[in-house]
Amino acid sequence: MNIAGALADLYTLQEHDQELDRIKEQQEQLPPELVEARRQWADLSERLAQLKEQYLALQREYQQNDLEIKDLAAKRKKAEDEQLQSTSVREQTQFENRIQQLSTRIDELTELTMPILEDMEELAAKIKALEEEAAELKPELDALEAANAERVAELEKEYQAKFARRQEMAGSIPASLLREYETIRRARRGVGVAMVKVQGGVYLCEACSVQLPTHVAQRVYQSQQIVRCPGCGRLLWRGPEQEEG
Ligand SMILES: [Zn+2]
Repeated sequence: MNIAGALADLYTLQEHDQELDRIKEQQEQLPPELVEARRQWADLSERLAQLKEQYLALQREYQQNDLEIKDLAAKRKKAEDEQLQSTSVREQTQFENRIQQLSTRIDELTELTMPILEDMEELAAKIKALEEEAAELKPELDALEAANAERVAELEKEYQAKFARRQEMAGSIPASLLREYETIRRARRGVGVAMVKVQGGVYLCEACSVQLPTHVAQRVYQSQQIVRCPGCGRLLWRGPEQEEG
């Protein structure tokens, strides 16, 4: 294989891969208005859920008290009926006491139950207000979601077109070299092949800036074999200017 040529192709391929990476990043970058609308929606939903839970708890408490009051009232009614039928003074007094006790308990429970109803009304008003707020936000959120989905789909079209060209290009690169490049690129923040830079008479890896020992730089320029940077392990390409020579 012509190593210098293959590395040059690989370097061009990498530029395409980096462009594809940028498109993927753009797809994931959500518009700030959408992020804000989603945050507001999540916040509203959570508050609504909490209030509804509180409301249900109060409702259960209210229903329990209400049942108990009805039960006590029935017992009182029975005691009253029995009192009417009783002829003994002693029994009359006993029924009187029982009726009194039941009435006291009913009054206590009723007094406890009234504030629960008031709290429920207050919660219901809060829930209604939040539901109105949510109903207002929903179309705005939906429009932002739709616009974003369209934006992502446009980028996806661009991505697929560029990816097809990239695959075509990759077809001309030796498979083993391509695999090596892809493995390094995945491990090394999207850069698998680096150019050698000459700076102040020394050779540097463009990716990690390590100074290359002369014998390493020589092997890169000879292009007889694949050379990896001793600093970062990336494939080293000697660069375009010497290519024709
Ligand atoms: Zn390096």
